[in-house]
Amino acid sequence: MSAQIIDGKAIAKKIRVQIRQEVEQLRARGVQPGLAAVLVGDNPSSVIYVRNKRKACEEVGIYSEEHRLPDQTREEDLLKLIEGLNSNPKIHGILIQLPLPKQIHTDLVLDHVSPEKDVDGLHPYNVGRLTMGNPRFVPCTPAGVIAMLDEHKIPIEGRRAVIVGRSNLVGRPLSLLLMHRNATITVCHSRTKDIGAICREGDILVAATGKPKFITAEMVKEGAVVVDVGINRLETGQLVGDVDFEPVSKKAGWITPVPGGVGPMTVVMLMQNTLQSAKRLAKGHFQCE
Ligand code: NAP
Repeated sequence: MSAQIIDGKAIAKKIRVQIRQEVEQLRARGVQPGLAAVLVGDNPSSVIYVRNKRKACEEVGIYSEEHRLPDQTREEDLLKLIEGLNSNPKIHGILIQLPLPKQIHTDLVLDHVSPEKDVDGLHPYNVGRLTMGNPRFVPCTPAGVIAMLDEHKIPIEGRRAVIVGRSNLVGRPLSLLLMHRNATITVCHSRTKDIGAICREGDILVAATGKPKFITAEMVKEGAVVVDVGINRLETGQLVGDVDFEPVSKKAGWITPVPGGVGPMTVVMLMQNTLQSAKRLAKGHFQCE
């Protein structure tokens, strides 16, 4: 059996069309959603991610601006920039591209972003809301994973979901989203023992480790839904996920490719969150019309 492909690129394209229409309607009422991307240093992957996100903004009609600061930027200068963006009415979403340089405390910076404009869903207020099952901004990658499953009407309720990786960006929030959808969750990490046996229990298996081809066919249950969040560049220049795609796709029921899987979904969810934020923040504007 060969797995059905969950084509993130195609699903993201479809969602972008809807977003573009909604952005147009909002612009007709005098509000253009705006996203500010903050990039400190010149990490090559971060530069590409920010460029892709701005390109996506342009495609759907969202205003975007980039604040690129040198690697040696002082924390207080970054915080001042964020304060300015927090009070800038043109900006509805603030994206702090991670990782930040060593001299900067990431938690402090994320705490400084207004929870009202925290389109990455990383502010403790939004993390708390997500934990309680009443989210405002859901982190983009986990939101993208759920949207992919929903697009194919892949059942979540009552199923056993295994997530490998517990980061604040991916594994942890995804475990909450799947739990809120009534899956039974196991989260694995670098200290987990007998990880293969646990993965084999997953009707839904999500890999988010940053370890190329970490998930082998032996770790996958026959017919499972395999979601590969990983993006790893090999020395050959090839881009691969955390799943050993060829052998796993012969065993899984569904699988996401890399590239063209979760990556495009992450970007489109950022657009979605920025649009939702603009709508929410514009409510006052409409009431004055
Ligand atoms: P991260 O912060 O480095 O977290 C990696 C997680 O994997 C940690 O929880 C770690 O466990 C676990 N892990 C590492 N080695 C392991 C092992 N041998 N066995 C079991 N667990 C192991 O990474 P991240 O930000 O979550 O990203 C994960 C991957 O997804 C990366 O490849 C990243 O580039 C990619 N990513 C893709 C997108 C997208 O849009 N597609 C978005 C974000 C990230 P400990 O907690 O015990 O250290």
